[in-house]
Amino acid sequence: MKKNLPSLTRLRIHNRLIGLSVLMGAGILVFLLFFYHSFSGSLQREKNTQTQYLSEVGVKVLQHFQQLAASGEISDQDARRLAIGALRQATYGDNGYFWIVDSAGTMLMQPYTPEQVGRDFSAWTDSHGKHIVREFIATAKSGGGWVSYYWPKPHGQEPFAKVSYVLYFPPWDWVLGTGVYLDDTRANVHQTMFQASGILLALFAGFVVAMVLIGHYFLRQLEGIAIRDALTNLHTLRFLREVTPSILSKQQRDSHRLLAAIFIDIDHFKRVNDNYGHASGDQVLVRIAELMMSMTRAGDFCVRFGGEEFVFIGFFDDQAAILQVAERIRTEAAKLRFTHRKTEYQVTLSAGVAVYRPGQESFDELLQRADQKMYEAKQAGRNRVVI
Ligand code: GH3
Ligand code: MG
Ligand code: MG
Repeated sequence: MKKNLPSLTRLRIHNRLIGLSVLMGAGILVFLLFFYHSFSGSLQREKNTQTQYLSEVGVKVLQHFQQLAASGEISDQDARRLAIGALRQATYGDNGYFWIVDSAGTMLMQPYTPEQVGRDFSAWTDSHGKHIVREFIATAKSGGGWVSYYWPKPHGQEPFAKVSYVLYFPPWDWVLGTGVYLDDTRANVHQTMFQASGILLALFAGFVVAMVLIGHYFLRQLEGIAIRDALTNLHTLRFLREVTPSILSKQQRDSHRLLAAIFIDIDHFKRVNDNYGHASGDQVLVRIAELMMSMTRAGDFCVRFGGEEFVFIGFFDDQAAILQVAERIRTEAAKLRFTHRKTEYQVTLSAGVAVYRPGQESFDELLQRADQKMYEAKQAGRNRVVI
């Protein structure tokens, strides 16, 4: 049995779901771009703060040894040698290290290019023509600060953009610095972005799957509401209209079988309501519906046509089989016993049967003929089947 909502409704709901997902995706993209922008900025600031702090720690190391010399524990020369040795070892991160020049521009310590130590760098320019050592000295002497320039990475030749925080150590007339390579920070940002995007995309995918499942669930609920009558759980007239084309095409495929409509109306149903109350009437409707359902086979439909009117749509081998089903519904219904406040009562049905005439009538005309036959059954005294 087909239980689908009209396909157009389905399409509209699906299109909305797709539209919503696209919107969500765009939102996540905007968020990622915003996140990238603010995150790369804050990571850069964070790195800079760390670098400045490390430079200050470097100067503290110099101070430590200088004080040892001042207190006479070691010679001034040893103090300088030990300070340089300590800071040379103090590499950190991927490409982090300290370097020291004196205020005349002579390289005193550089852990990765020891051949430069002792050389005068005062006139030296970086790959962009900047007199960087002069700037180191000037910046450091004016209280310390940032200098940007180009310098090779450890174990490399090619210069990369770098910013260093430089500080001056007056007792020895030294300039100490340490810095970060900008592309390292960027690589860091990209890696974090990559991870964040992965998590967000996974969340998004999960969200879409959940949306589809929830959407599917609600569609099924809606379908249930649309295709089943709330009281009797029989199919609705609306559903019958939806499946009419497929009923007719099935009739065409199985043309040797008879498509029949059995129109059923409860006799004097108004009296049930009047005598025993509306709730009792409802109970009767439910029991009759159950009875009809018990007569169905695959491909048959039981429809609540209106208040106390039902239609049985089915395929049969011959007219006798149709009458047999109609009669069984009528006789079984007559056997049902209902009670209301210890009062027992019964109901009867009138039924009209019509067999579809392929090519000669529409499905509605078939229903009208069955309804007409049911009316004839009423006229003939009720509690009977007319064909
Ligand atoms: P007839 O034998 O000619 O069919 O008489 P009838 O009383 O069955 O027919 P009529 O059309 O006069 O009354 C049908 C009644 O069915 C009237 C209406 O109040 C009642 N009815 C319709 N839908 C429901 C329902 O959902 N629950 C209950 N309890 N009553 C309903
Ligand atoms: Mg009626
Ligand atoms: Mg009636």
